[in-house]
Amino acid sequence: MLKGRCLCGQVTYEYQGEITELAVCHCQQCKQAQGTPFVTNAPIETSKMKWLTGADNFKSYFSSSNKKRVFCQNCGSPLYSQRTDMPESLRLRAGTITHGKIPEPHYQIYCGSTSDWLVLNGKPQYEQNILKNLVDKID
Ligand SMILES: [Zn+2]
Ligand SMILES: [Zn+2]
Repeated sequence: MLKGRCLCGQVTYEYQGEITELAVCHCQQCKQAQGTPFVTNAPIETSKMKWLTGADNFKSYFSSSNKKRVFCQNCGSPLYSQRTDMPESLRLRAGTITHGKIPEPHYQIYCGSTSDWLVLNGKPQYEQNILKNLVDKID
């Protein structure tokens, strides 16, 4: 089980599961949305996520027509992104997790826009988005 919150604390959540997949995303949209050189996103199951408080504080921005980025409109903390054609999963921003195990990243995506100075040794690199279970089939 995981717990987490936004910066101001109005949004709190519990995830009734574990993180089994953690992606480092280097895409330009994530950089701009988070204000950081890369982002750590965990694909998780929507049905196991319980927003305890503050869900009425959510604000969504559609960075592409089928993908919304959700943040706390009080403090601006990015919380998750979600594709409209994949409502069963969401991509939690791992930096908001306060309790529970955050594993090492499993892979990196959109590596064409990685910051030159950043080296994450030993993690598989992909030019596009992937889902680990699909890659396992290819490997
Ligand atoms: Zn907040
Ligand atoms: Zn990204």
